Amino acid sequence: MSTAHRLTATGPSYADLAVHLRCHGPLPAADPAWIIEVVDRSGLTGRGGAAFPTGRKLRAVAGGSRRSGAPVVVANGCEGEPASSKDRTLLLKAPHLILDGIALAARAVGAQDMRLCVHEDQTDVIRTLRQALGERRAAGAPGADVEIVTVPDRYVASEESALVQLLNGGPALPLATPPRPFEKGVRGRPTLIDNVETLAHLALAVRHGADWFRSAGTPDAPGTALVTLGGAVAVPGVYEVELGLSGAELLAVAGGPVEPLRAVLCGGYFGAWLRSDRFAPARISARGLQNAGAAMGAGVFLALPATSCGLAETARVARYLAAQSAGQCGPCLNGLPALADALTGLAMRGDRKAATTIASLAPYVAGRGACRHPDGAVRLVTSALSEFGDDLRLHTSRGPCAGLRRAPILPVPAASSRVPERV
Ligand code: SF4
Repeated sequence: MSTAHRLTATGPSYADLAVHLRCHGPLPAADPAWIIEVVDRSGLTGRGGAAFPTGRKLRAVAGGSRRSGAPVVVANGCEGEPASSKDRTLLLKAPHLILDGIALAARAVGAQDMRLCVHEDQTDVIRTLRQALGERRAAGAPGADVEIVTVPDRYVASEESALVQLLNGGPALPLATPPRPFEKGVRGRPTLIDNVETLAHLALAVRHGADWFRSAGTPDAPGTALVTLGGAVAVPGVYEVELGLSGAELLAVAGGPVEPLRAVLCGGYFGAWLRSDRFAPARISARGLQNAGAAMGAGVFLALPATSCGLAETARVARYLAAQSAGQCGPCLNGLPALADALTGLAMRGDRKAATTIASLAPYVAGRGACRHPDGAVRLVTSALSEFGDDLRLHTSRGPCAGLRRAPILPVPAASSRVPERV
């Protein structure tokens, strides 16, 4: 069990409509109830981070249409995680699979209004999508009238409720929930918001059936997933893997570690660190990583070398996350910079009070925002303190370690420099 080629079956280049149809065949003329039934039985879960059962979401939106009018389908291709490239890769290589998924999801819930959201600075993705939509219009294929919507390039702008607010003519900022979008979303209609990879899987599950979908992965984590593997591995990149493989097998997909590892960041910047000895046997699935104390998130895995400083790496990301707060909620606005400051003090100066400060701040930040942004940041910071306990003791007893001299492993967009270090 290692790599798989379902979403990636058309190869590494852009698959135009003719290539796409040769590889995957035409869309079946399935009726709405059958689509929902197949997706339900397939066990497909969201691949954007929440891992919510896709069939259940379809059913909720379809049911809501009886009360609140025709639903809206929104495909989320924004990929807010700076270290993730899987949605972008899929949008560039296999946009027709995503458009198929949008068309089938719309048929399942009874929607005519279909949107595909991407970040405004992804001009190559937008160009590719326009080309794909043009091919569908010429062929009279379903999904030709999907509207491309551009979203500001901020971490929280692609959060579900922020997308709804943007599509309703407001700013792309998260809203306190409920109501959730599936109850009352775009123009007050029940709104299905799914990650683009999820919709691409949906297109294949409906074509080939639930048993086919479950023939990869494990019974409790069926199917494949796109993952972004980076850091100290031989061939960083985006790969499609069967869910349920071990952490060690996952790293081998990218050619294996190029030097001894200290830890692996699982799930991206909303995820958590796992020490390398705990990562190796962990199962790569939402439940498997949760059992190990981490998260699958958007499928990002970054390998940290043994000679790097996990505390300093996390402090840089914490500063980035603090800068990406929408600035609407006090615990997030004030709490995240304070957490980042404390971790920076520990990493850079061996501040002995930092761990206590973080432990006392965390409960007042996590779960206190309108969205889950602060929860993810707290999880990342607290996982650093528990997984890098040896480093913590070293920093507070002897000062910063030699790992500070290494080039950073975790990518942090330059925009985070807007928030200066507050020490
Ligand atoms: S929790 Fe933070 S990111 Fe989320 S809405 Fe409030 S201020 Fe914005």
